[in-house]
Amino acid sequence: MAHTAIHAHESLARLSEGNARFASGTTRHPHSDEDRRLGVSSGQAPFAAVFSCADSRVPPEIVFDCGLGDLFVVRSAGQMVENAVLASLEFAVHELSVPLILVLGHEGCGAVAAAESLMAQRASGAPLVLLPGHLNALAEQISRRLGAGSGEAHLKTPALTDAPRPMTQAARNTAAARAEVCARSPLIRAAHEAGDLELAHAIYDLETGRVTISGAEN
Ligand SMILES: [Zn+2]
Repeated sequence: MAHTAIHAHESLARLSEGNARFASGTTRHPHSDEDRRLGVSSGQAPFAAVFSCADSRVPPEIVFDCGLGDLFVVRSAGQMVENAVLASLEFAVHELSVPLILVLGHEGCGAVAAAESLMAQRASGAPLVLLPGHLNALAEQISRRLGAGSGEAHLKTPALTDAPRPMTQAARNTAAARAEVCARSPLIRAAHEAGDLELAHAIYDLETGRVTISGAEN
């Protein structure tokens, strides 16, 4: 697969510009026509991987005004990290040479709310009300992130956007998800340490449509 070398800062700039168009109502819907469809039919070279919440209100291709072949998207509720997520991101890094992984969370995240509820129950000392199916594992993973306070240091340098904001639980969860991807994937960590891959995280505001990108480190 031919890959046009692109640096992480260019990827971040494209994401930021696309989101600015989306938030201001000036979307272009690029790379959505037949020419593009045929052009990418023989191979893909996405300019970034986005690991986002599965929430129906946060579709990466739409909020970044991107089209076919632009983004390699991995999604799970609350940016829960498990093997399918790690393998998918590793594919993007190892096989597609994406220069950037952006972890995208959002305010008003139901998975974060479930974790907060679990933490509140624990703090109260009352018997826990378990969630059905695998949902409890989701709430547990996010509550561990929030409880650990990890990722705090990563929010100090907003690269492209507004002044720093107070860190919300959604932002804390998103920063921690990024750290977790690195901690659990030696392949991704090695690519980052070799200078071939940048990681950043971002928070999407459901009302304004704006993404605040933070913490592209080093
Ligand atoms: Zn969510």
